[in-house]
Amino acid sequence: MKTEILKLLKETDDYISGQELCEKFGVSRTAIWKAVNALKEEGYEIDAVKNKGYKIVAYPDIITFNELKTTIDTKWAGRDIYYYDTIDSTNNKAKFLAEEGAANGTLVVSDIQTGGRGRRGRKWESPSGTGIWMTLILKPEIEIANASMLTIVMAIAVADAIKEYSGLEGMIKWPNDIVINGKKICGILTEMSIEMDHINHIVVGVGINVNTRNFPKELEDRATSMALEGGKNYKRAQLIKLVMQHFEEEFEVFIKTQSLKDQITKYNQMLVNVDEQVMVCEPNCEYKGTARGINEKGELLVEKENGEKVYVYAGEVSVRGIYGYV
Ligand code: ADP
Repeated sequence: MKTEILKLLKETDDYISGQELCEKFGVSRTAIWKAVNALKEEGYEIDAVKNKGYKIVAYPDIITFNELKTTIDTKWAGRDIYYYDTIDSTNNKAKFLAEEGAANGTLVVSDIQTGGRGRRGRKWESPSGTGIWMTLILKPEIEIANASMLTIVMAIAVADAIKEYSGLEGMIKWPNDIVINGKKICGILTEMSIEMDHINHIVVGVGINVNTRNFPKELEDRATSMALEGGKNYKRAQLIKLVMQHFEEEFEVFIKTQSLKDQITKYNQMLVNVDEQVMVCEPNCEYKGTARGINEKGELLVEKENGEKVYVYAGEVSVRGIYGYV
């Protein structure tokens, strides 16, 4: 009922009378009053006026279950939501829930991650109240070899969502990061569970620095946030909604051909290191080359100094700029 009340309050500019709410939900005035108080506890400023009723006057950046539920309006991505104040890693939780039968499109969100991860177990800084730490569960009927393309689909979705919401132009650092002014604003971590020869589930984790103003010393020169770049704070729930919308759109394009065929041009336009010198860091061999863009599988075409062309597979390697992080 709390979620329903919130939805009604958000949809109306005017006051909604306590009586109307009582009748709608078939409960007492006290029950309504309690639900409204609980919403106030979550951070909503709700004006209560005798003989008029209730009205939302303002609300800050909130990402509770109720806020997400009443904000996200997609067909399937983010329709089922699990919200936590704190968790070790949303990817871990998502994998667990996927095993337990959570549906395709289930979204796991946490305000804090105590053990947020990047690729190869690298740490992902996920402090409270400032970022989006979320994981989308997918159960698509696709080939195992195509799973890593979902990282690219998500990268496009996040960059588009950030742009739509804030006007900030994120560039993609192949394959899984979004950067602004050479600093990382978002990281994506895709993991999958395979059984025999088919995909059980794929989890796509997304970390976005939204209102972060301070980073630990070691990240200062390589991390940034929307607040630092845009000079103001943003509502995380609003951005989550837009990421889900754009993901749904991009996923539909991808799934038609199970390839990135129709997204190559768009992706390459956003690619930060296109035509730039990059270093490919595989476990055993490091070589330099010029990045030329992705192909329909999401592999990065790198032209080595001796002219040899290599397609680098997204699942395994990192690419670094020669003179800095990007
Ligand atoms: P890389 O970008 O080096 O290939 P990952 O994609 O695995 O690595 O991301 C993990 C790295 O991202 C960490 O080693 C750290 O340098 C950086 N990092 C960690 N937390 C954040 C954050 N909140 N914002 C930006 N960068 C971060």
